[in-house]
Amino acid sequence: MTLHTLTITRAHDLLKAKTISSVELTQAVLDHIARMEPQVRAYLTVTPEHALAQAQAADTAIARGEVSPLTGIPLAIKDVICTHGIRTTCGSKILGNFVPPYDAFVMQQLNKMGAVMVGKLNMDEFAMGSTTEHSAFHPTSNPWNLAHIPGGSSGGSAAAVSADMCLAALGSDTGGSIRQPASHCGVVGLKPTYGRVSRFGLVAFASSLDQIGPLGKTVADCALLLQAVAGHDRADATCAPHSVPDYSVALGQTVKGLKIGIPQAHFESPGLDPKVADTVMRAVKVLEELGARTVAVELPHTQYGVAAYYVIAPCEASSNLARYDGVKYGLRDSAADQLLDMYHNTRSEGFGAEVQRRVLIGTYALSAGYYDAYYRKASQVRTLIMRDFQEAFAQCDLIASPVTPTPAPAIGAHSNDPLAMYMSDVYTLPANLAGIPGISVPCGLSADGLPIGLQLMASHFQEEKLLTVAHHFEQATEFHKARPPL
Ligand code: GLN
Repeated sequence: MTLHTLTITRAHDLLKAKTISSVELTQAVLDHIARMEPQVRAYLTVTPEHALAQAQAADTAIARGEVSPLTGIPLAIKDVICTHGIRTTCGSKILGNFVPPYDAFVMQQLNKMGAVMVGKLNMDEFAMGSTTEHSAFHPTSNPWNLAHIPGGSSGGSAAAVSADMCLAALGSDTGGSIRQPASHCGVVGLKPTYGRVSRFGLVAFASSLDQIGPLGKTVADCALLLQAVAGHDRADATCAPHSVPDYSVALGQTVKGLKIGIPQAHFESPGLDPKVADTVMRAVKVLEELGARTVAVELPHTQYGVAAYYVIAPCEASSNLARYDGVKYGLRDSAADQLLDMYHNTRSEGFGAEVQRRVLIGTYALSAGYYDAYYRKASQVRTLIMRDFQEAFAQCDLIASPVTPTPAPAIGAHSNDPLAMYMSDVYTLPANLAGIPGISVPCGLSADGLPIGLQLMASHFQEEKLLTVAHHFEQATEFHKARPPL
């Protein structure tokens, strides 16, 4: 049996029946990482000793009859999530030697459930980017075509799941960083409602937009992982006190009678690849065959989403990243003998070009005299986008759209054109600005054999509807069974 190809659901059944052990399963995943990593480069840190010790502990727990759905399951974690005693770099030189003295809330939850962590995954530096080329360490390749990007910023997470280098992963999504790489790598990715999952221990990029969520081989696996990490945490004041439903129940609900909103403008924008539009529209037809009804909805202000996001996110980033000053932790330039030189050298050396660009834009847009023109205006646009969704969800249960305008571009295609990269976030950013949940589920392949995703969005705390519809779509189609040619 090729254990590393298992889904969480299947591996759990085999572990529970004691057909396999977690040590065997974990070793199989570690062996597969060793085979694939030279080509895919999804990981920043692989933690074999840690993983095998956790697997051993899981086997002991299973022998005692203590089996949670994640006990003994090998997972991997985006390197933006703090792991006690294990280096957490955020894809940045400035945190290149940072070993957190605590676990993020989501790690505390996974550890309680007896999950196994095999390593930390590559990402664009501080989660700023859409390609994983902006990692300070190395780019990650798309397992479907190594010359192409896996998407970003959770590109390591999506590539690792797609290439069976972990059973599932956690990523973070500030403007699309879970859904977009999931779409490019042919896996499922879910961004929860803002506040559904604690951000305690998630290194902050743009605090009003950041959210942790699962990437998995199936919708059911994402439901399990969301179940494990969702819920109230007093350590994060923006984490919602709402009780967490049983997401596995949602998988059994019917699609019949649900109304799917179609924002026509999202299928007609100039940069949209006609093959992507056509593939996503065909996916919508499948939803109709499953009993959903479609209705036209308008999201008139989402066209300003890119402009608003690329003011708000850099503003918050410039403020959040002020803490990396060489004093408290992380990199410090030791050559300078003046304080200001030390700040200057540490930040010039420690931050890459994309992060410096965001800090400059954010600092400028927040400065006296420009605050009203940029930050306040962008915040007003954000409110209009939220209202668009409120009005749309008065007429429908879910909204369907493409995830990205094109399949994964070649590595280097956007390297001299940050604006082109920013524009590729046009369909994912609005959900973050509005705080609503969204999912990407595989729905086809391009002519060149690169995956295409269908995005579904729902109103706040309606993750169940996303899971219901995405699960039925997956069960009715074969796309999730397609594997990268590697
Ligand atoms: N691509 C977007 C950006 O560069 C979103 C990143 C994210 O979701 N972390 O900011």
